Amino acid sequence: MKPMPVEYYRAESIEDAINTMVAFPGARLLAGGQSLVPMLNLRIMPVSHLVDIKKIDSLHRVEESPDHIRYGAALTHAQFEDGAVPDACGGLLRHVASGIAYRAVRNRGTVGGALSLADASTDWVTAMLTAGATIIAQGPDGSRRIPMRDFVQSPYQTALNPENELLVAVEVPRVSSSCDWGYYKIMQKPGEYASSLAGVLRDTERNVSRAVLGGGNRAPVLLETTAGILARAGGWTDQLKAELSQAIASDLAQASRAGEPWEQHSWTNCVLRAARQALAGKASTLEQSS
Ligand SMILES: Cc1cc2nc3c(=O)[nH]c(=O)nc-3n(C[C@H](O)[C@H](O)[C@H](O)COP(=O)(O)OP(=O)(O)OC[C@H]3O[C@@H](n4cnc5c(N)ncnc54)[C@H](O)[C@@H]3O)c2cc1C
Repeated sequence: MKPMPVEYYRAESIEDAINTMVAFPGARLLAGGQSLVPMLNLRIMPVSHLVDIKKIDSLHRVEESPDHIRYGAALTHAQFEDGAVPDACGGLLRHVASGIAYRAVRNRGTVGGALSLADASTDWVTAMLTAGATIIAQGPDGSRRIPMRDFVQSPYQTALNPENELLVAVEVPRVSSSCDWGYYKIMQKPGEYASSLAGVLRDTERNVSRAVLGGGNRAPVLLETTAGILARAGGWTDQLKAELSQAIASDLAQASRAGEPWEQHSWTNCVLRAARQALAGKASTLEQSS
């Protein structure tokens, strides 16, 4: 199918993009176009105007400070994958980017586009929650900070106002050099959207431990009890596995995340595998199920 006719506008600046959205209700931002263009072709998203933000210089910026790195929204997955931007999470972001779809998608798809779309089965939504990131949004009334834990409200729904707000950057806290992480996806084949994703980040030096379950057509969940156990864990043992399995079940119940027994099994295993990777030392045994 071909899309409905749309008006195309190339924004020169963030303010220009916001003003255009305000002037034309129903306008949508166009970043890498990897999700939006297929949706337009299928006519499942009514759009009157496209506001192209790819050429806005400030959205390509990387700003480093001692505590965090701020990534501009228009940076592509490929730039993370290639190490063209520094990795605040000791390799986690690079690893995540390299597993997104296929290289052709990664060349054009952007971190800001993926987060704004908030498709539950996509990678950045889970990975940035694991990283403890903060979204920087800008609208007609100025800019605001939204912690990742409050950003995705449900699949395809975020805290952004889609009528007039732009995700301009994502700020990721730096981890220490001794930080360990794990990241595991379950999908039909490499390059496909995942049915479950899990991220674990354990930075004892910074007193940070996070475990996240994504996918399952729901907003990603922070697993607090599971993260608490991981913070204190030594090596991988059967006892730890049993303790973690119980904690994951309790965290999911707390988050009212119910599913068929096979789904619960798959979610639990996804988190356990990410946890095991983290405890084995970052990226030592990275594998993903397909
Ligand atoms: C075949 C295929 C397989 C894929 N597999 C995966 C996968 O395995 N994992 C994964 O994570 N992703 C996957 N994706 C999605 C891919 O990562 C997209 O790049 C991403 O979801 C959207 O980014 P984009 O820059 O292309 O955004 P666009 O398609 O341009 O925009 C997506 C939406 O976000 C809005 N938007 C874009 N930028 C902003 C902004 N800065 N502020 C506010 N709103 C904005 C747009 O208005 C639109 O509604 C896949 C895509 C394809 C086509």
